[in-house]
Amino acid sequence: MSKTNQNPFENVLVQLDIAGEYLKLEPGVRDMLRQPKRIVTVSLPVKMDDGRTNVFTGYRVQYNDARGPFKGGIRYHPGVTLDEVKALSAWMTWKCSVADIPFGGAKGGVICDPKKMSQGELERLTRRYAAAISNVIGPDQDIPAPDVYTNSQIMAWILDTYSLIKGYAVPGVVTGKPISLGGSLGRDTATGRGAAFCTREAAKAVKVPLKGATFAVQGFGNAGANYALIMEEMGAKLIAASDSQGGILNKKGLDAKKVLAHKEKGGTVVGYPGAESVTNDELLQSECDILSPAALENAITKDIARGVRAKIVVECANGPTTPEADRVLDKKGVFLVPDILANSGGVIVSYLEWVQNLDRLYWTEEEVNSRLEQKITSAFKGVHQEAKKHGVSMRTGALIVGVGRVAEAVRTLGLWP
Ligand code: NAD
Repeated sequence: MSKTNQNPFENVLVQLDIAGEYLKLEPGVRDMLRQPKRIVTVSLPVKMDDGRTNVFTGYRVQYNDARGPFKGGIRYHPGVTLDEVKALSAWMTWKCSVADIPFGGAKGGVICDPKKMSQGELERLTRRYAAAISNVIGPDQDIPAPDVYTNSQIMAWILDTYSLIKGYAVPGVVTGKPISLGGSLGRDTATGRGAAFCTREAAKAVKVPLKGATFAVQGFGNAGANYALIMEEMGAKLIAASDSQGGILNKKGLDAKKVLAHKEKGGTVVGYPGAESVTNDELLQSECDILSPAALENAITKDIARGVRAKIVVECANGPTTPEADRVLDKKGVFLVPDILANSGGVIVSYLEWVQNLDRLYWTEEEVNSRLEQKITSAFKGVHQEAKKHGVSMRTGALIVGVGRVAEAVRTLGLWP
């Protein structure tokens, strides 16, 4: 699904090698971290509304669980590939480690086009997928969550299917579920909120006042739109936004709430009154202080990176910058908050949701948000310190922290037999 033909899992391996050099990883551990522990591929026959049976393909990749149960979202998209799911599962592993939460990393994906499916078809596909992977998921084993084109309703169907198979209610099997089923307050906005906290810290680091700072967001979905709303609350000014159909720009500022209402009504930000139309690539190179890619992998290629004018890049999306583009941005002095730190708010609050489910005890939204703020700010500081210590980018600093903790856990567990 990525914009270039670049294989996202190859990007993972390039990043792992960079971290491995700094960490002086021994070859055995390095080899263990280069591949997932388990790959599950399932074929999913689904009765369509017109009576035909369509067979979809689904994946669940469990990358590493040395630090705790596998954890990671499920993506529904026509461009899903096994290598993409593998890459996303590796990034989940480093991300949980950077955030210092006791989870490993996993990811799921189903090759389908949810925009062309009815609710009934989506429900039947989801239940079939949940049943097919039911023996490898569970609150102590692997806990899915939403990702691109999946949402809390899809989590509800997975929870119900899994509970029916078990014979009792298991709310802790998924996170990002509806509040009525044990979801956590604050989970829906958590990825965007966490990224906004990271932006605040980055702005302090490079001495750009957040109040009045201009920002652009590529991908106005769960992560991107919530990021925009919270950044606006913090005093920053949204100047451009986009989705799969195109983008909009107004240098004087857009109203994030109104842009979201426009998208909810018409399915796209395109056509928002009082803004000029821009392409996604133009948005990425627009004049702004802060840029947030919040859509898919490989959005910022080497060529796009050359034209990026922002001082700070905050990766709400997973893997939006290619390794070559990373080097270009780094050389230009752009302060980049990498995905495994910037978008970790989602999994941090997923962790808080899981803890609440296991404890049968629920917190207020203020309590959840303040725990998120504390966790992600401390992760940011740890990564920033590591980056400064080695004189490297925040990406490399985050990889050193993330991969380093997983390697330490793998080493300490030892090998059996
Ligand atoms: P979403 O489905 O809610 O939104 C995706 C948005 O991206 C939509 O607005 C869509 O139109 C847009 N989009 C799709 N293809 C595009 C393209 N080619 N160009 C521009 N825009 C495009 O998904 P989401 O949950 O917000 O996920 C977005 C990114 O954030 C993904 O990389 C995901 O892995 C990452 N992420 C999400 C969460 C979360 O909690 N939802 C957590 C961590 C990371």
